[in-house]
Amino acid sequence: MNKMLKLLLLSLILAPYSLLADGHIFVYHRFDDNRYPTTNISTKELRREFNYLKKNNYKVVPLIDIINKVNANEKVPDKWVAFSIDDGFKTFYTHGLAVFKEYKYPFTLFIAVKYTEKKYKDYVSWKQLKTIAKYGSVEFHSYGHGHFGQMSNEAIKKDMDKGLALMKKHLNYEPRLFVYPYGEYDSRVAKVLENYNFQAVFNQNIGAVNGVCSDENDIDRSAVVGSNSKDFKLYLYFKELCGVHFNAPLSYPKDKIVRTVKITLDDKSIKNAEVFVSNSGGWHKVKVNNGTINYRLNKKMKRNRIKIGVKVKNKIKLMVLSK
Ligand SMILES: [Zn+2]
Repeated sequence: MNKMLKLLLLSLILAPYSLLADGHIFVYHRFDDNRYPTTNISTKELRREFNYLKKNNYKVVPLIDIINKVNANEKVPDKWVAFSIDDGFKTFYTHGLAVFKEYKYPFTLFIAVKYTEKKYKDYVSWKQLKTIAKYGSVEFHSYGHGHFGQMSNEAIKKDMDKGLALMKKHLNYEPRLFVYPYGEYDSRVAKVLENYNFQAVFNQNIGAVNGVCSDENDIDRSAVVGSNSKDFKLYLYFKELCGVHFNAPLSYPKDKIVRTVKITLDDKSIKNAEVFVSNSGGWHKVKVNNGTINYRLNKKMKRNRIKIGVKVKNKIKLMVLSK
C-alpha cells in the first residue's frame, strides 16, 4: 500500500475518535539535552507538536482551566490541551521557555524545591523561576523528589512542609497543584496528601481527562520524549476510560510475580478490552464478562515500577504499582 493511502486509511479509522477526544495533559522534562534521551525533547520536535495543535485547532489552556472543570464535575471541552513541565531543569529556562513564549502557550512548571534551593547546576534558580512565573505558573513537586511509597507518613509530611514553606518564602506562593515524584503513589500516600487540600494531584500515566469521571487526586498526564511526533499524535486520540476499578494486584507483589490482573468496569456492555502490564509484550486482547476482567499472567517483573492498564477501543486507563 502506498504511503498516502495508508495515511488516508489511518485518518478515516481515527476520524470518529478525534471528534470525541477529551482534554489532554502532556508532561515534558528536559529540552535539547541529549545526555538524557528518556526525559528529553528537542525544541525542533516541540515546535512540530505545537504546529500540529495549531493546524488542527486544538486549544492550549492553562492547566488550572482543565482542573476547574474536573473540580466542578464538568466535561472538559474537546480539543483542550494543557502543558506541564516537571522538576525544574535549567534547559526549560534556556531552551523550552522561548518556544512556549513564541506560541503564547501557557504552561505549568512543577518544581522539586530542593534542587533549586541547593543550587544544583542543572536546575533553575529562584530568580529564573520569578521570570518563568510571568509566562506560566509554578507549582509543587515535593521538596526532595523522594520515593513517597518508601517513605513514612511523617517523612512525607516533613518533605512537603519544607518545600511548601520555601515556595512561600521565595515566590510568595501557595501551590494549588501537586505532582507525585516519579509519578508513584498508593492509597497510603494519597491519604497523607489529602491533608494539603490541593485542587488536583497528578500522576504520569498515559491517558486523557474527561472531567466528569476524572479523579482530581489522580489526574493522567502523558509524557512526551524524543524527536518524532508519533506518540504525541497517538495520545491525542485517547479518551479517558471511565468507571475502571483495578482490583488486583493492589500493591507491588513481594515476590515480584504478577499472577492475575483483576479489573472491573462499570459499563457492563463492554465485551472486549485490552490489558497492559509492564514488560509483558504490549497490549493483550481479553474478554470481559459482565464487567469483569481476569487476566492470568504469572510473570516476574524486572523493574521497581509496574504499569497496569486497560483499553477499550481508544479509551484508556492506566495505574502504577511501585516497590
Ligand atoms: Zn519529577
